[in-house]
Amino acid sequence: MQLIDIGVNLTNPSFADKHQAVLERAQAAGVCQMVLTGTSVEGSEQALELCQQLDSSGQRLFSTAGIHPHSASDWNADSARRLSDLCKAPTVRAVGECGLDFNRDFSPRPQQEKVLEQHLALAVELQLPVFLHERDANQRLLEILRDFRDQLPAAVVHCFTGEQRALFSYLDLDLHIGITGWICDERRGTHLHPLVREIPRGRLMLESDAPYLLPRTLRPKPKNGRNEPAYLGEVLREVARHRDEAEADLAAHTTACARDFFGLPFLD
Ligand SMILES: [Zn+2]
Repeated sequence: MQLIDIGVNLTNPSFADKHQAVLERAQAAGVCQMVLTGTSVEGSEQALELCQQLDSSGQRLFSTAGIHPHSASDWNADSARRLSDLCKAPTVRAVGECGLDFNRDFSPRPQQEKVLEQHLALAVELQLPVFLHERDANQRLLEILRDFRDQLPAAVVHCFTGEQRALFSYLDLDLHIGITGWICDERRGTHLHPLVREIPRGRLMLESDAPYLLPRTLRPKPKNGRNEPAYLGEVLREVARHRDEAEADLAAHTTACARDFFGLPFLD
């Protein structure tokens, strides 16, 4: 079984000095390719460097380049130039993480919207897919996306945690949906159980969002409480259960979907 983890925050300090071990455990667990999430200009540069350092084959590790809505206030002319340069690297397969977070509002909303539009314009220019973050901002995200959607090759709403209306609105725009271990959370993720079966094959991808979102159904629980790509199989298990699909079948179609979305190579 081959899995692709489309969202790993490998530059997170909690993984410092552990990269090799994390990748080996992922590999052993069937996670054959990963896309490292860039959430700031510096973080995106680091993600690209990690890919180059840790994967001499150039076949297994890829990255995104973008500025998380939490950090939209950091945007300036220099970020635009550096992001554009980053996105021209062959290893960088998507623009993002970018989007809107009206849940925590760490950056002012007008600034989040402006920075999102800059990312979308870059994705259109370079014809790259987009890795989107949305929290409590479904309507505004839709309004902004509508102006760009026809010119964008593809976009995924990563770590989807919303309600049915939001899900259907994204599918109507022909977006992809990323599902994380949020679905394994009995306190706040059970509304996703009936929803995941509504996501068509070819639009559904799996992600760990490691080191965040350790699947709460995982047994035994790791002592350090840190999520890893190696635990993506737990998300697979939970999603397969709620879609009434065999795990191998779900693995095959989500992997094919991720490979197609990010343009990743086939492995032997
Ligand atoms: Zn996110």
